[in-house]
Amino acid sequence: MNLSKSQYMKGLQCPKALWLFKKRKDLATEPDQRRLNLFETGHRVGDLAKQLFPGGAEVEYRQSDYQGMIDETARLTLSENVIYEGSFSTNGVFVRADILVKNGEAWDIYEVKATASTKAVHKPDVAIQWYVIGQHLPLNKAYLVHLNTAYVRSGELDLQSLFSADEVTEAVQAEQASIADNLNDLERVLAGGEPDILIGTHCNNSYECDFHHHCWRDVPYPSVLDLCRLNGDKKFAYYHQGIVTYEDARKHIGLNAVQALQVNTALNRELHIDTDAITDYLRGVRYPINFLDFETFQDAIPRFDGQGPYKNIPFQYSLHILHENGELEHREFLADETEDPRLRLTRQLLQDLTDEGTILAFHQSFEIGVINGLARHFGQYSAQLIALTDRFMDLEIPFKNLMYYHPEFHGSFSIKSVLPALFPDDPELDYKNLDIQSGDVAMDVFPHLHEVDNPDDKEAIRNSLLAYCRLDTLAMVKIWGKLEGIAITEK
Ligand code: SF4
Repeated sequence: MNLSKSQYMKGLQCPKALWLFKKRKDLATEPDQRRLNLFETGHRVGDLAKQLFPGGAEVEYRQSDYQGMIDETARLTLSENVIYEGSFSTNGVFVRADILVKNGEAWDIYEVKATASTKAVHKPDVAIQWYVIGQHLPLNKAYLVHLNTAYVRSGELDLQSLFSADEVTEAVQAEQASIADNLNDLERVLAGGEPDILIGTHCNNSYECDFHHHCWRDVPYPSVLDLCRLNGDKKFAYYHQGIVTYEDARKHIGLNAVQALQVNTALNRELHIDTDAITDYLRGVRYPINFLDFETFQDAIPRFDGQGPYKNIPFQYSLHILHENGELEHREFLADETEDPRLRLTRQLLQDLTDEGTILAFHQSFEIGVINGLARHFGQYSAQLIALTDRFMDLEIPFKNLMYYHPEFHGSFSIKSVLPALFPDDPELDYKNLDIQSGDVAMDVFPHLHEVDNPDDKEAIRNSLLAYCRLDTLAMVKIWGKLEGIAITEK
């Protein structure tokens, strides 16, 4: 059997995923830009972590020469105290260790993850390395190195503070007893036909499987798997018992109030509207209404002073302002991609927002979190920023609290579910007509914008970002108008 560390991990998550990877790779979904960016982040963090142990020797990756990498590693262990990407193979299992450090007569393994903490799935990842490398070298300790989210950059990067190392030797040693059995099981799987493994929570846990498209092809939409406020294991248990459709769910499951609403509105194709509750909600809104939406990005490795790993950095906002006389204004900010966006954004935001009136956001905890982050960072604007948070109201509430429920929500109350359900035929309000169609994409695109050399390409991307964020707040204006229409016409 030939197995790499990542293939072993894939097989632990789902033996069928390993089988498909080895035999039917053509059925895998190609990684999207977000996944590619995650890989790239992993590599950058891994490279930086090597500087925690400077002066080591690196074994370069050579796709068609694993034996050469293994031989080179063996040579380096005789002369070096620190080896990066040391390569080993035992019983057909090939691993590369991020960092090996000589500690007396034995070696310590350091596995680097671009995550904010050590996760359960990381331990078998180190355990298989220990199993393979332990056949070639005496081992002492194993560590998982991850980013320390308490770190805040100030001047040069302080690597000792940026990274944290958790010792996992005991857990890794405890896992050794099961590795031989795991490998035998995987060998048996690979010797047979496509395994008959049902879909389940393992399809996304701990990693999103590449074979969703293949294994989930017969799952109807909507199905019991779309029921809201139901634990994932229970959903799959119902599904595999044959309770698949909403019709089945209505007959065979004791649905709670939200699920009953979700199922009944979908099956009866009817809206649920609580006019009194909507009217009450709208009574709290004051003109001029500021419809606000931020876009943010996160860096694993902080670029700016006052920035920590994976902390949201706002780089853009859109603001529609609706006055009592019906006039609608639009203001927006999109940062220069070459600098820390926060100061300019803060100053313009404080100018652009009206001095009074409600600030409406969809899922306000995100916008309030961004404002609180700015307030912590810029003491001189702190009082003004904090004062804004008292003026917020959340436009998600009428939907989340079931004042308005549309059969097309299918239990999701995000703006991406609410808008198309309320305005199905309006091309101006259709995210699918935009180049950038989600906040996740915006979050990936902006941090790479400074790498785009062609000014026309750069301008096109900036325009796409502006169009996306503008639609987020225009959507809120329209959704608010819809609610207002209900309150006025039906009260
Ligand atoms: S989609 Fe699920 S069942 Fe299919 S291979 Fe992946 S993890 Fe296994």
